[in-house]
Amino acid sequence: MSQTPVLVVHGGAWAIPDDMVEAHLRGVREALATGWRLLERGSTAVDAIEAAICYMEDDDTFDAGRGSFLTRDGSVQLDALMMEGATLRAGGVGCVEHIRNPIRAARLVLEQSPHVYFVGEGAERFAREHGMELCRNEELIIDREVQRLKEFQAKTAAGHPDPTFAGPQFANDTVGAVALDMHGNIAAGTSTGGTLNKAPGRVGDSSLIGCGCYADNQSAACSVTGWGEPIMKLVLAKRAADRVREGRTPEASSNESIIYLKARLNGHGGMILLDRQGRIGVAHNTPRMAWAYKNINDEKSGINC
Ligand code: ASP
Repeated sequence: MSQTPVLVVHGGAWAIPDDMVEAHLRGVREALATGWRLLERGSTAVDAIEAAICYMEDDDTFDAGRGSFLTRDGSVQLDALMMEGATLRAGGVGCVEHIRNPIRAARLVLEQSPHVYFVGEGAERFAREHGMELCRNEELIIDREVQRLKEFQAKTAAGHPDPTFAGPQFANDTVGAVALDMHGNIAAGTSTGGTLNKAPGRVGDSSLIGCGCYADNQSAACSVTGWGEPIMKLVLAKRAADRVREGRTPEASSNESIIYLKARLNGHGGMILLDRQGRIGVAHNTPRMAWAYKNINDEKSGINC
């Protein structure tokens, strides 16, 4: 036990409106404190990430767990992935509708299954068989999101905005965390309700290995947020981690990856990146991104970087 721990969390990258800034900052700071309490007493990076992300899944502010965006049919469908850099074990769940904390289910897959990814009913059955209580989908739906969907559908029916999520004005409130523990291991996790008005069954980048989340002790740990389809096509989290293995700093790699996202596919979003030396990168090409960082000596958070 010798490594100085580091924790970084994010709570989405988009044009977060002024009246939502405070809630985002409070959410990422509390999530950071929750994960840090574990890291500082020697818990693993996976423990810290699970705790930090569970906090944000339970916070209605974010598009993860309760309070997530709704599908075009008005239900919540959640995706999450966790990955451990020491072993490359990973666990993902997609399109789950009855799990309050999908990141916990993802961790169960990581630790207790020979498989890497479960979807829908099979994911929920796996979670239940491994001790998780299921909930009703209605328990994950809040009035704000019912209203948001209604307004969006009314506008698109009137031929109003671009329904392709091509602009950073579309909310991307996915949550994620990367951690380095005292044992010198890194891990990453990402959890989301996906994009507003998505087609039922759609899976975004967040829970796809290497796209919205990746961790390898030999390179870096990464969690991404933003418009999922371009991020997926570029396998962006793995790409950013690979650049660190090749010698770039996490700061340079995260900046370069987000520039590439825009240049190659006109994508938008943000990422957090962390290597085993505790060096971090936080980058976004959206007007704002909610993030928070802590090591033994320093603590920072922001709505911009
Ligand atoms: N990347 C997520 C998705 O496309 C959305 C987000 O980051 O908020 O599902």
